[in-house]
Amino acid sequence: MNDELLIGGQPASAIIAAAGETPLFVYDFQIVRARFAALRAAMPPELSLHYAMKANPFSPLVTAMSALADGIDVASIGEMRLAIQCGADPAHMSFAGPGKRDAELEAAIAAGVTLNCESAGEAARTLAIMQRMGRRAKMAIRVNPDFELKGSGMRMGGRATAFGVDSPQVAALVRQIMAEGADWRGFHIYSGSQALDPDAIIEMQAATLALAARLADEAGASPPHLNLGGGFGIPYFAKEQPLDIARIGAALGGALAARPAVLADTGFAIELGRWLVGECGVYLTRVIDRKQSQGETFLVTDGGLHHQLAASGNFGTVVRRNYPIAVASRFGAPAEETATVVGCLCTPLDKLGDQIALPRADVGDVIAVFMAGAYGASASPSAFLGHGPAPEILLGG
Ligand SMILES: *Cc1c(COP(=O)(O)O)cnc(C)c1O
Repeated sequence: MNDELLIGGQPASAIIAAAGETPLFVYDFQIVRARFAALRAAMPPELSLHYAMKANPFSPLVTAMSALADGIDVASIGEMRLAIQCGADPAHMSFAGPGKRDAELEAAIAAGVTLNCESAGEAARTLAIMQRMGRRAKMAIRVNPDFELKGSGMRMGGRATAFGVDSPQVAALVRQIMAEGADWRGFHIYSGSQALDPDAIIEMQAATLALAARLADEAGASPPHLNLGGGFGIPYFAKEQPLDIARIGAALGGALAARPAVLADTGFAIELGRWLVGECGVYLTRVIDRKQSQGETFLVTDGGLHHQLAASGNFGTVVRRNYPIAVASRFGAPAEETATVVGCLCTPLDKLGDQIALPRADVGDVIAVFMAGAYGASASPSAFLGHGPAPEILLGG
């Protein structure tokens, strides 16, 4: 087999010809749609499914996602404005993240977006701004849980952290924001990212429900809403397995059915970024030079870590491992050589694939780096060395 890579049913070369240049990010929204439908089918029907847009804030994708997801979770005023422009309903948006400035708090209150409060100080500033505006703020408390998501690629809780309010302080803060007249929306408990062990996620969700119930009892108030976080991972590397979402959904359905009475009228949500969009994206970059050095073959491309930092192993990973990579014009062809695929930046960090088995690629051939749909374009230092950002296109939106 010596076929060309198809993305969204179109040959990679045709997509590049239409876009006019490499490097290029291509996202296939049909993949997102299929994943979303699978998630919907697997999860309990009463669970709201939110998109955490920092995973991929490309506006055509956010527009398509706004029509699909039950809510959008943002982490800055820029994301909030973009989501609203893309058609997301502010009533179903939440805004998390430390260091929210007064202008961001004010804009969120004005738009009716729920603020996930990260600290007592932030809550106090929100309440003061609310009084000055004469408009009720929608406030949830982000809780720093006393547990962490096991095997998570990036742990966000269970230790000293900038994220959320330590659980012993939560009940008093809930009472305070209710006493001051804010619209208390409940809890946000996010404890990690990129977990591939369904049992770890099941355990985390059960612990999250138990913690929310305990805090509600302490506060003497039932939370209208509980955001259970996310953490659903995707397999990037050899031997990793896709997450068994049917198992997670069944366990969560059981846990919700058996939930403590204080959560009887609570609405529930999860917020996913990477799991929804990571697999829909391909980064296409052209071979500019092919060279040998001390017996090793290097394919030097017109792309690099300034677009795909994560594939270079410099975004949230301890040990560098290769993302799946192919020669787009010889997709499925047997490997003929071992080559190292590098970018065009003047740093040895700029490696897209280290000593990978590939069919032979020559100058002009296109390399495809998969798993580029999440934390790619927007999580890479595109100003570094002045090459500028890569164009992005959405197919099937
Ligand atoms: C980043 C983030 C997410 C999304 O994480 P993924 O690993 O992309 O699913 C969800 N919620 C919060 C609060 C986040 O900070």
